[in-house]
Amino acid sequence: MIEEYRGVWVFIEQNEGEIEGVSLELLGAGRKLADKLEVALAGVLLGENVKPLCSEIIAHGADEVYVVDHPVMKDYRTESYMKGIMLLAEKYKPEIFLYGATPNGKDLASAVATDLSTGLTADTTMLDVDLEKRLLEASRPAFGGNIMATILCKKHRPQMATVRPKVMKALERDASRTGKIIEEEIDLKEEDMRTKVLKIVKDVTKKASLADAHVVVAGGKGMGDIQGFQLIHELAEIMGASVGGTRDVVEAGWLPHELQVGQTGETITPKIYFAIGISGAIQHVVGMKNSEFIIAINKDPNAPIFDVATYGIVGDAMEIIPKLIEQFKELRKEKGGEVSYV
Ligand SMILES: Cc1cc2nc3c(=O)[nH]c(=O)nc-3n(C[C@H](O)[C@H](O)[C@H](O)COP(=O)(O)OP(=O)(O)OC[C@H]3O[C@@H](n4cnc5c(N)ncnc54)[C@H](O)[C@@H]3O)c2cc1C
Repeated sequence: MIEEYRGVWVFIEQNEGEIEGVSLELLGAGRKLADKLEVALAGVLLGENVKPLCSEIIAHGADEVYVVDHPVMKDYRTESYMKGIMLLAEKYKPEIFLYGATPNGKDLASAVATDLSTGLTADTTMLDVDLEKRLLEASRPAFGGNIMATILCKKHRPQMATVRPKVMKALERDASRTGKIIEEEIDLKEEDMRTKVLKIVKDVTKKASLADAHVVVAGGKGMGDIQGFQLIHELAEIMGASVGGTRDVVEAGWLPHELQVGQTGETITPKIYFAIGISGAIQHVVGMKNSEFIIAINKDPNAPIFDVATYGIVGDAMEIIPKLIEQFKELRKEKGGEVSYV
């Protein structure tokens, strides 16, 4: 019976005892849904020795935390985590269950959806609820990003969705918040697990630096060719910024894929985003539109990028960037070295 299902749940992804940013963002989004539906918001936490994280989860908006703390849960594995989630979901029956669209979140959500025989909307960028029908409205770009599709799961529960990192906003941490912690025992043995984690090798590619950068200088096909694109690198260097680019630039071989911004690349929210020689196709814009300041340089005054830009410069990037580089060099000289732009 669908009516038996109540409450909004967020899977709290933790790695070596550190909560992933997307989980806190989902608590922010989940809070709004739970308030609308007048139900509790719960965080679901699996791991080993993770109980100290419960207070953080509550401080970021949860009313309750369901915890399965067990040595077999130390590192993420589909099998053990799925068993933990199934135990909780079958017993407590949430109506909405959100996961970060990270590699582990996507893996877990799809396995759980299959076992619970329910629906899952992947890579959601907007969440709302139809209050009357208590339906989750999970929206995401479809047909190559040309339309937004709102997907409903009318006949099954829980209604599940994965949400990309940096799309939703986390709430301010409030240490005075209080909540309930519900611990659940699970009967799992290491020797019954079909996979073993032998070693965790950290990814130290540039991907992390693009996602975490405060300033990003991104270039598009308007830079002409790979030589022209060097100006993007030079401007980024003088500002201590990260470089990003459009899919067309990546396909042309001017940048590696991990520096692509957009629907099929990274979603980022830096303080300052330079979009230079970028037309502003929807598939690019979904990956950068939540940046605090967007500065667009484009020779076409009608380029769609100006619709999302905070400041726009209409002109030839080949002339404007060298002038900017000169200005930033002057500024550095004046300030005697490092300059903070944010
Ligand atoms: C399923 C799908 C997924 C996609 N995913 C992504 C994605 O993740 N990220 C992404 O970026 N794209 C993605 N795309 C591609 C996207 O649709 C656009 O094709 C792409 O973003 C355009 O790249 P661009 O702005 O570099 O090039 P263009 O659209 O060719 O724009 C170049 C711009 O540069 C300007 N310009 C030219 N010369 C100068 C100059 N000298 N000075 C200043 N301005 C100049 C032009 O006026 C123009 O606006 C996807 C497409 C599909 C179908």
